[in-house]
Amino acid sequence: MGTISTKGLKAKNKSFYCLGATGVAKAATDTNNCALSHYYSYEFKQEADPSFDSEQWRNDHDKVLSKTIPQIKKRLPNTKFLEPESQFLKMRIENKTVFGVPDIVGIKENKIFIIDAKSGKKRKEHSYQVSLYALMGIANKLATEIGGIFLSYPSKGNDSEKVELIDLGDQEAVDKLWTKEKRTKVKSLMKKMGEGHEPDANPSISNCMYCSWKNRCSLAVKKEEKELIDIF
Ligand code: SF4
Repeated sequence: MGTISTKGLKAKNKSFYCLGATGVAKAATDTNNCALSHYYSYEFKQEADPSFDSEQWRNDHDKVLSKTIPQIKKRLPNTKFLEPESQFLKMRIENKTVFGVPDIVGIKENKIFIIDAKSGKKRKEHSYQVSLYALMGIANKLATEIGGIFLSYPSKGNDSEKVELIDLGDQEAVDKLWTKEKRTKVKSLMKKMGEGHEPDANPSISNCMYCSWKNRCSLAVKKEEKELIDIF
């Protein structure tokens, strides 16, 4: 029996084993560097988390995205934006599959532009995620060079008409993010995926707190509740 209970879950068909770009970005930035968590995500499709309001998330995300589209079209004139069905990207790392669906993919001449909308707080893994999409675009031969990567967040001043559009840079910025050390870390993770034996877990409060397997994992570390003392 494994460390994580997969009771009631359906394993993906082996030819569809894959890890999302979000998971890879979390591993690269140590937001979640537990190989066990990624190992199960690679092979199993999880049920929806009842504590997560996906409808609210979808609404918030779509609001940010709809305000981002006109801004980015103004910013990148004469760019061809791909239809949603062409935005599904895949790449191989250590012969294992990584997939991702960025919100906006633009192509101008031989350059790719990736834009991702976020409805929540800024997190360090977001820039790795969006830059990974750009690398996936190159791997998918959509372009030969990275022209730009952008993240868009709800406007700080609560101006409902605006978004904060952050230009993270071009090919040079992506190369700076994906250092040799980060690439080695991700390669070492991907090597462990789909190999038929569980990799070592790395249980910690920070890894387990947002791990999507925490309710099924026998090693999950829970944040200790502070004991309340009655002084009245
Ligand atoms: S709950 Fe913690 S130990 Fe278990 S898979 Fe997730 S991160 Fe790893």
